[in-house]
Amino acid sequence: MNDTRLAPKIRLHVAQPLGPAQTVPLEREQSNYLFNVMRLGPGDLVALFNGRDGEWLAEVITAGKRAGELRCHAQSAPQRMPPDVWLLFAPIKKARTDFIVEKAAEMGAARIVPVQTEFTNSERIRRDRLQAHAVEAAEQCGGTYVPEVTDLLRLDRLLDQWPEDRRLMFCDETLAGGAAGLSGFARGDPWAILIGPEGGFSEAERARLRGAPLARAVSLGPRILRADTAAVAALTLWQTALGDW
Ligand code: SAH
Repeated sequence: MNDTRLAPKIRLHVAQPLGPAQTVPLEREQSNYLFNVMRLGPGDLVALFNGRDGEWLAEVITAGKRAGELRCHAQSAPQRMPPDVWLLFAPIKKARTDFIVEKAAEMGAARIVPVQTEFTNSERIRRDRLQAHAVEAAEQCGGTYVPEVTDLLRLDRLLDQWPEDRRLMFCDETLAGGAAGLSGFARGDPWAILIGPEGGFSEAERARLRGAPLARAVSLGPRILRADTAAVAALTLWQTALGDW
């Protein structure tokens, strides 16, 4: 093992358990990335995380074109879970939806839920692609947790089965210019943030959300933000008021 070969730090998300002397077989794509793209070889170190066991320094034992094996040495960071906040958003154009997922993972969302609202632009998402963006974001931002990206769910059905203890920060564009509205809550409760599509929420949706007992309608400032900007702004606001900032 040669520590001088560590920089720049390569972080890789794996599915396997991590622990002292644990060996980690690599999938084809991971081997390609480490050994062909990044040109690592036996003796080199990478940082691994799986969302449960923290971050571990692991040494390359075998490096092939299509397969390889790593072995864990020591834990380099403890497991760190984000606060229990979900991001619910209505998917927009592909590149902007990718951006929302990437930023939500970086901003510490615990779960990412694409929702179909009345004015949602896109009726289909590629869940696996979006999940891969969340993994990449966690790899590059030093996180040890990867938020799950769920399938596209209908907002009305989601509200029908809303968890009894989860508060909802309803980002309501008609409140633009008003006070944010997140004061008076204690930290520690489970929350979800809801961002609408380009067309905003319908009157029926707004009425239902305003009347939902666990929902709080909030403003994101005096300007109408695009949905991708709104997602980042809302997570910033929530993390500052109620999360881990
Ligand atoms: N077309 C709508 C704007 C939609 S913006 C209109 O012109 O009114 C997309 C989403 O971002 C909104 O549904 C809302 O959830 C959020 N958003 C944008 N700006 C906001 C603001 N100033 N306050 C609260 N929510 C906002």
